[in-house]
Amino acid sequence: MEQSPKKIDRREYTLMIVPHHGQKVRSIRIPINTVKYTISLLCLIMIFMVGSFVEYRHTLTLAGTQKAELVVLRQNNDAQVSQIEKLASTTTSLQVDMERLNSLDAEIRRIVNNDDVTNTSRAGLVRPSVSYDGQGGPGMQPNSNNIVNINHIVNDLQSAVKVREQSLAELKQELLAKKARMAVMPSIWPTSGDVTSRFGWRSSPFGGGGDWHPGIDIANSSGTRIVATADGEVIQSEWYGGYGNMIQIDHGNGIRTIYGHNSQNLVQPGQMVKKGQLIAYMGSTGYSTGPHVHYEVRVNGTVVNPTSFLN
Ligand SMILES: [Zn+2]
Repeated sequence: MEQSPKKIDRREYTLMIVPHHGQKVRSIRIPINTVKYTISLLCLIMIFMVGSFVEYRHTLTLAGTQKAELVVLRQNNDAQVSQIEKLASTTTSLQVDMERLNSLDAEIRRIVNNDDVTNTSRAGLVRPSVSYDGQGGPGMQPNSNNIVNINHIVNDLQSAVKVREQSLAELKQELLAKKARMAVMPSIWPTSGDVTSRFGWRSSPFGGGGDWHPGIDIANSSGTRIVATADGEVIQSEWYGGYGNMIQIDHGNGIRTIYGHNSQNLVQPGQMVKKGQLIAYMGSTGYSTGPHVHYEVRVNGTVVNPTSFLN
């Protein structure tokens, strides 16, 4: 199919120039297409300029926003650096605390075991290292390397805390067992006063040479408190010959204690008593020269020196 040739607009604009002094009028003919193209071009230039201006303003606003964001980021970064510094300082101080805790643990173990020589307990087995790779002091500078170090130290501290917790739990069990053993051991004095007769051979207070004394005598004023020297069961509370008012307590493991010459017995056979519990008042009943308590300790029926049990 044959294409019809495009119709060309051949219209023209006539521009008349009229001078002031009667000179010849000049006219300029401009083809209408030229005018159209010029206006189109001008429009394009205008659009481009407006577009560029809008773009420029947009870029300017974006730059402002980014600058503000950068300031916020920098502030956040400063805050984080400060927090890391604080964390490093806290971690260091925690290490010092843990070291102190380790020493305390070891010291308590020494006291419990009466081991005053050197610390050979497990307390010193796992100790958190004060520093990793030669760093970690109070002067630590916060950077990624030190954050790694802080993590190492924190991990170390976590392990150390677990070890310490286990060690203290064991110590608690040992102390409870020791406390239970001590509760039934007659390890305290039955009263206050002066020891007027020791255990064993002595010159008789009643004259006639020496006699063998199966306990210790502690003298004080009449009515002085007498306490059980260990946990146990009262098996005797009565007048018993030369002992006068006497109390006998069974502490288990074959250990018994006897308190004689009391002015008044305050407990009954079958009664359970605790270490330190008031059981009688001091007197001079039975074969006695003055107010005192005659105190005996028997192990499997044999009298022993009570002072060997005293702390
Ligand atoms: Zn006596």
